[in-house]
Amino acid sequence: MTTTAEQLTAFSFGGGVQSMAALVLAAQGALDYRTFLFANVGDDSENPATLTYLDRFARPFAAAHGIELTSLHRVMVRTKETRTLYGELTREDSRSLGIPVRMANGAPGRRSCTLHYKIKLIGRELKRRGATSAMPATVGVGISVDEIDRANNRRCEPHERIDYPLLTLGLRRSDCRRIIRSAGLPVPPKSSCWFCPFRTPESWHEMRRSEPEQFEKAGQLEDLLNRRRERLGKDHVYLTRFGRPLREAIPDGVDTLFDLDTDDGLCDSGWCMT
Ligand code: SF4
Repeated sequence: MTTTAEQLTAFSFGGGVQSMAALVLAAQGALDYRTFLFANVGDDSENPATLTYLDRFARPFAAAHGIELTSLHRVMVRTKETRTLYGELTREDSRSLGIPVRMANGAPGRRSCTLHYKIKLIGRELKRRGATSAMPATVGVGISVDEIDRANNRRCEPHERIDYPLLTLGLRRSDCRRIIRSAGLPVPPKSSCWFCPFRTPESWHEMRRSEPEQFEKAGQLEDLLNRRRERLGKDHVYLTRFGRPLREAIPDGVDTLFDLDTDDGLCDSGWCMT
């Protein structure tokens, strides 16, 4: 972390392609970031492949180049309890939806997960390290030019200023992959919570094919949320945009016409999935 009197700088590391490219560029001296903060939604909530990649490749690479890569977890201020998003969704007395579940018409509902498990975690850490609204920290967010619509800096804390260094460099997602490979690293998997309703249809199909137990767990989570909704007299919600239960919407053994990289379901901020 830069600790000049003027400014702190840190990169919001999402564990995906853009963040990893930013880490490589920082190691090469092309980006002026020495601190990367990974807001971990929970070891039971993040895509397991992202956590594996982090341990096997991102952390060793950062350490070898003298770059800080720190994981942050949501710790409740009063009770000091560590919360995970999946844990919160499945807690017995929980009334929370929290995630952007899809309504019957496919539209995502309001969510609080990005705010509570990403934005506030990084904001709190920067405040702890000295950022103030009079002297805000710069937070790098990994948006590439092909996802420029996600570059809205509405959602940040008063003691932060958002920076989009990949946009400044004019980098596309394909450039990010090339940069990662050129450093001798494999390209990371798409990062998001494994149950995120913003996942694309293809990524659900891929999960059903290659991780059937994880897929079943997502179906069970959808069931649980709907049992809770029924008790409250509310309509069903879904993890896909098809207005049907997950196991029906993503049938077994059926391939999809959707491209794995279709970004129709991306989170509209750069705090997740980068
Ligand atoms: S990946 Fe999806 S479910 Fe997870 S925090 Fe982001 S928006 Fe919420």
